[in-house]
Amino acid sequence: MRFELPDLPYELDALEPYISKKTLEFHSGKYHQTCLSNLNNLIQKTKYKSLDLETIIKVSDGPVFNYASQVWNHTFYFECLQPGDNNPVKGPFAEVIKRNFGTFSFFKNTFARAAESLFGAGWVWLVLNPSGSMEIIQKSNAGNPLRIGLNPLLTCDVWEHAYYLDYQNSRQDYLKAFWKLISWEIIEKRYNEFSKTVV
Ligand code: MN
Repeated sequence: MRFELPDLPYELDALEPYISKKTLEFHSGKYHQTCLSNLNNLIQKTKYKSLDLETIIKVSDGPVFNYASQVWNHTFYFECLQPGDNNPVKGPFAEVIKRNFGTFSFFKNTFARAAESLFGAGWVWLVLNPSGSMEIIQKSNAGNPLRIGLNPLLTCDVWEHAYYLDYQNSRQDYLKAFWKLISWEIIEKRYNEFSKTVV
């Protein structure tokens, strides 16, 4: 086994009532695990077998890219979340968001609009561009900002499997729930790490 899944940073029922244990059982235990197994099988005896996951995402195409990116994206997504109910954005990081978007509600609305309007399956990302500014971007299917030199801070999985069991076709209700669970401490930590590397 080349790559392994990290443990979820919380229990399967920890995000209830917003994201159910059943959703996480399928999403982490089945979907994420299957992407990982498929990736490990595909890269055996290929030039990818000794590369790290981020490098594979940057240099591969087709099924290898799709599974590598879905493995990375899901680990990143699950780490964006924590149990709770509207974890607040605090202190200096709240100021950083205001500096980038004007107001926190403008940021939140722009992110939600991007998530609601993404056609089909994909991911919405808050990223830091090379000059250190924040942007909100949409990526279809297994799309990943690392491929175009952007540093991901936060992502929302808008594939139907992320919300169908809990919210059926209402991506909007899922987004409201997602918003309550964001771990701003983790997003801030990522921002601080990336901004150190921006000259
Ligand atoms: Mn997913």
